[in-house]
Amino acid sequence: MDEEYDYLYKIVLIGDSGVGKSNLLLRFTRNEFNMDSKATIGVEFSQKTIKIGGKTIRIQIWDTAGQDRFRAITSTYYRGAVGALLVYDICNHSSFDHLDRWVRELMDHVDPTNIIVMLIGNKCDLEDKRSVKPDDALAYSQRNNMAFMETSALDSTNVDQAFEKIVKLIYDQTI
Ligand code: GDP
Ligand code: MG
Repeated sequence: MDEEYDYLYKIVLIGDSGVGKSNLLLRFTRNEFNMDSKATIGVEFSQKTIKIGGKTIRIQIWDTAGQDRFRAITSTYYRGAVGALLVYDICNHSSFDHLDRWVRELMDHVDPTNIIVMLIGNKCDLEDKRSVKPDDALAYSQRNNMAFMETSALDSTNVDQAFEKIVKLIYDQTI
């Protein structure tokens, strides 16, 4: 039976292929992790219900399901989104360099005045392979008016916190 909820928020995951979007979703919704990225392809979206300020919020989180590999994200993917997690891999500088491109594509498809974007530096468990400095990412997020967190889908660092943060920001904007 369907749970009741007060609000439904659509949140999209964007960022280069391989940065860990599917695993962030898997960790948040099922507390699982997958070493083999191919295994996570195919999910369109997953839902989870959380409580904020006494309200029940259903979040519907969309995953690119492999479309990111071909830079062929469809408009359906973005339609109606009120939040976006903009994900890069802290060990892969080019995934950080491509952020502007993802932001531009997002803004072409949503109402720019009605979307909360949060920057996520994933794979923070791999500190020895880091190539993006937290200060550079923080500066980028501040220039673009985004919240920022580093996460690890592998060891769960900040995963729940990141989703809760973006939902809270959306909630505060829409209430
Ligand atoms: P996507 O293409 O953005 O959906 O990325 P995936 O979730 O498929 O992850 C790509 C690869 O990175 C897979 O081999 C994952 O196991 C790995 N991965 C994802 N998140 C993390 C993380 O936080 N830490 C580490 N060490 N590996 C990760
Ligand atoms: Mg994926």
